[in-house]
Amino acid sequence: MSPSAVVWDSALLAYDMGEGHPFNPVRLHLTMRLATALGVLDDVPLLCPETAGAGDLYRVHSADYLEAVRQAPMAGWDVGHGLGTDDNPIFADMHDAASLVVGSTLLGARCIAEGRAQRAVNIAGGHHHAMRDRAAGFCVYNDCAVAISWLLDQGYDRIAYVDTDVHHGDGVQSAFFGDPRVLTVSLHQHPFTLFPGTGYSAEVGVDGAEGSAVNVPLPPATKDAGWLRAFHAVVPSLVEEFRPQILVTQCGVDSHEEDPLADLSLTVDGHRAIYRELRALADRVTEGRWLAVGGGGYQLLRVVPRSWTHLIATVLDHDVDPDTPLPAEWTDMVHDVAPSAELPLTMSDGGDTGYSPWGDGMDDAVDIAVRDTRRAVFPLHGLDPDDPRD
Ligand SMILES: [Zn+2]
Repeated sequence: MSPSAVVWDSALLAYDMGEGHPFNPVRLHLTMRLATALGVLDDVPLLCPETAGAGDLYRVHSADYLEAVRQAPMAGWDVGHGLGTDDNPIFADMHDAASLVVGSTLLGARCIAEGRAQRAVNIAGGHHHAMRDRAAGFCVYNDCAVAISWLLDQGYDRIAYVDTDVHHGDGVQSAFFGDPRVLTVSLHQHPFTLFPGTGYSAEVGVDGAEGSAVNVPLPPATKDAGWLRAFHAVVPSLVEEFRPQILVTQCGVDSHEEDPLADLSLTVDGHRAIYRELRALADRVTEGRWLAVGGGGYQLLRVVPRSWTHLIATVLDHDVDPDTPLPAEWTDMVHDVAPSAELPLTMSDGGDTGYSPWGDGMDDAVDIAVRDTRRAVFPLHGLDPDDPRD
């Protein structure tokens, strides 16, 4: 048994919102080419997904919405359901393309549930903004929520979802806001300053599920050290206390300092450090069971391919040294399509991923977010919000 599964098929590139839209599938293509050129995928079979059926989409979406998505390419201008907007333009075969994204994350979940793999990665997934009844934030169907719902039916009754995208994981939180079996944790840029405008620390869950939603709203310009400090101050304690059987992570890379749509200031090195933390967390808490999906990321040439190559490599235990030069065959290929692109030289931005643990008496803007989040949710888990040992 391979301990890790990589889900990929070039058919996933059909999720294409059109010329000029930031959610450009070239980022997936360039990632797979870079991972291949670096040898990360040597001897790794790629698992080809199938389209998710309506039965699985109905887990988290309404029948009305599915019908609207199906009909959208043939319908008039007023489709509703968040479709046909600048963020979520209608494109040909959008139902099939979005269903394939869901099928690809489901395949990763299935590999783990059936014991065929301990970990699985699907960089095409992570459409975390899609809501029950509407498209949002470039997302049509919520693959993360469908996969979590499916895992619940397989007998997993404690699932931890950790979302490291720069935007709040609102669709996934919304799907399980009243379900104590799913712990959703999102670290993101503060909702005052960024779409979707939710993800405050006071959002903790409802109806007996209080404490099952966790939000860490980080100030703009937060760097690797601040992000990692906040992560360590909040996530390991809660996840360890929750004792999930599986870890699902949305690994959007729009938290990078060069991302054109947001204002956090992480580096590719910070992303690599995050993936290693998530892997260690799964090894410690879920016997290694870890389903990782992609998400946002709009610096298409310089950032996403390197960050997600590190993600795939981390899942496969084929970690890539940050100082590794970018292979000429990859940079040549990028220059063929983007002759003026200034590409980095290595798999690193030279970022400093050292950080000091929370609880050292500092009280900067990151620490205020940490404190608010800990005070909102730690007591609901029997943890002391003011004791750094918890
Ligand atoms: Zn995002």
